[in-house]
Amino acid sequence: MGPRVAHGPRPRFRVLYAWILEGRLPVRVTTAFNRLLRLEGVNVCSVVFGINVITVTVVLRRRRLVCPHCSFSTGARYDTRPRPSVWRHLDLGVWRVQIEATLRRLRCPTHGVVVEAVPFARPGVHLTRDLDDLLAWLATRMDKTSIARLCRVSWRTVGRACERVVGTELDPGRLDGLFRIGVDEISWRKHHKYLTLVVDHDCGCVVWGARGRDAKTLDAFFDELGPQRCAAIEAVSLDLGPAYLKSVQAEGHAPQAIVCADIFHVVKLVGDALDEVRRDLWQQLRRLPDDRWARDFKGSRWALLKNPEDLNDRQADQLARIRRTRGGIWRAYEMKEQFRAIFAGDLTRDQAAVLLDRWCARAQRSRLAPFVKCARTMRHRRDLILNAVEHGISNGRVEGMNTKVRLIIRRAYGFHSADAALALVMLGAGPIDLKLPHERTPAQAAA
Ligand SMILES: [Zn+2]
Repeated sequence: MGPRVAHGPRPRFRVLYAWILEGRLPVRVTTAFNRLLRLEGVNVCSVVFGINVITVTVVLRRRRLVCPHCSFSTGARYDTRPRPSVWRHLDLGVWRVQIEATLRRLRCPTHGVVVEAVPFARPGVHLTRDLDDLLAWLATRMDKTSIARLCRVSWRTVGRACERVVGTELDPGRLDGLFRIGVDEISWRKHHKYLTLVVDHDCGCVVWGARGRDAKTLDAFFDELGPQRCAAIEAVSLDLGPAYLKSVQAEGHAPQAIVCADIFHVVKLVGDALDEVRRDLWQQLRRLPDDRWARDFKGSRWALLKNPEDLNDRQADQLARIRRTRGGIWRAYEMKEQFRAIFAGDLTRDQAAVLLDRWCARAQRSRLAPFVKCARTMRHRRDLILNAVEHGISNGRVEGMNTKVRLIIRRAYGFHSADAALALVMLGAGPIDLKLPHERTPAQAAA
């Protein structure tokens, strides 16, 4: 003992000694993986490097067994699973990481004999919670091919991760305090597959959704809301179809609410009428022996449909040429612009009423069949349209929401189910504040 104190550490321990003094302790591989993986409630007991994959075996730190479906816990085990369970975790560099643990079973008084819960993964799932959350976060921002390639999972796995994250993270209080809501339908797949979405106008997010787009679909929303919360609803914005209106006005739903037409849909209806006139004219021009007119008119769609302030030079030229013709197509264009002006946001209800009636009269005299039909719809829903002008709830915010939801759906086209599509809408546009693994408080980081 004397000589060591006298001479300090022996030469081969000098490097180690220097590290200890600097706080740079060499760590064991299991300790290193405990820190790297940050898995909640477990200790790493072995690490094996295979081909492209690192297999990390862990043991649960807690002795008691917990039911995955409720809070029941017990010290008594029913049996031990013969094989270890396996989870996929976040990759480490180019390595896939696979977690293995031998689990026990317990007898829950409510759920029977079940495999115990693990703190780092959702029940019955073979991805860790960190990976689940990462996939769900990516799905709202990236196309499916990129995610599948980046994370080396199938698109179906991403869809399921979205459903799980929404299932556990959706705020149950999101239906409280709804005063002004908007109802909208969105197609999530070709061949007429639709979702009905309910938007909270005050927070600007989607709070409810279900498959289908008829009165029954929306009935389910009011049922979930219950009589007290239904009675608190002051205003509802809708498209011009009869289904949602019927459901809103039904007894016990929200007959007291002011119903407004969704301006986004109303303006779109007139845009569609203009496009129909344009297509008719295009068909006529194409049949002419001289193709000069058809060539001139070609590609005029955006010149006509875009707002005049957004046109580029070529489109502005084209619009000027259409104006010189003074034909039906120009009248249709003028009517679209007049209609848009009614909703510019600076008119009172009475002023808007005068303009709307004048517009309907002009459209009905226009001898353009799509506009005659359009005017009929507007007359029929006149009150709803004027309500929207007066209460101003179908404003840019909801239009922005509409665009956002459509973008999410389009980027991820080809869901395997309506539930997966709905989950993605909720994640991207709903009241969920999704955290990435590194943004969460590192509860077990120092373990
Ligand atoms: Zn249970």
